[in-house]
Amino acid sequence: MQVITIPVTPFMQNARLITCPETGKTAIVDPGGDVDRILKCIDDEQLSIECILLTHGHLDHVGGAGELKEVLGVDIIGPQQDEKFWFDAMPMQWQRFGFAPKAAFYPDRWLSHKESVSVGKMKLEVRHCPGHTPGHVVFYHNNSSQVLVGDVLFKGSVGRTDFPKGDASQLKQSILEQLYTLPEETVVLSGHGDNTTIGYEKYNNPFVSGQFG
Ligand SMILES: [Zn+2]
Repeated sequence: MQVITIPVTPFMQNARLITCPETGKTAIVDPGGDVDRILKCIDDEQLSIECILLTHGHLDHVGGAGELKEVLGVDIIGPQQDEKFWFDAMPMQWQRFGFAPKAAFYPDRWLSHKESVSVGKMKLEVRHCPGHTPGHVVFYHNNSSQVLVGDVLFKGSVGRTDFPKGDASQLKQSILEQLYTLPEETVVLSGHGDNTTIGYEKYNNPFVSGQFG
């Protein structure tokens, strides 16, 4: 899996273009905004977009998804359906961040735990990781040892749980059961900040080792 990272919006959210090296087919993961920059990169790299994948429904991860769907004519896939209330709240999210409210949009398909999503010939395993948000999913690509985790896990930190329907103990359980069970060399592609690995976080992340809260 080839990965291009484009930090978007003032939140520096890591929008990503993930490409199947065999077919050149690409998915856009968490396009939070700055649609023009994402489209320019797709054009520069001459990528063939197959779908838009979403880890969760926060505006800084999905703000550009509706527009990209229209421009590119592709489906929005994920997250898991417990996330619906964040999509219902889209107009409120736009307003809260100081933008003119836009209409709500919804994914074309919700994802379930353990199902797989295809991008070209790549198969990504879906893992439901509630806690930061209830319908949060991560995408694991076994063959290239990479996992896209959205706002579940960061280098040295974890996702916030103070939003509506956030749950700190559920987040910890998701990390322990769905992420720390992956091979330690697995590269973690987070929604904000630097990449890390499962092994590094297992031994250094104070939020899940019990040093904090
Ligand atoms: Zn978030």
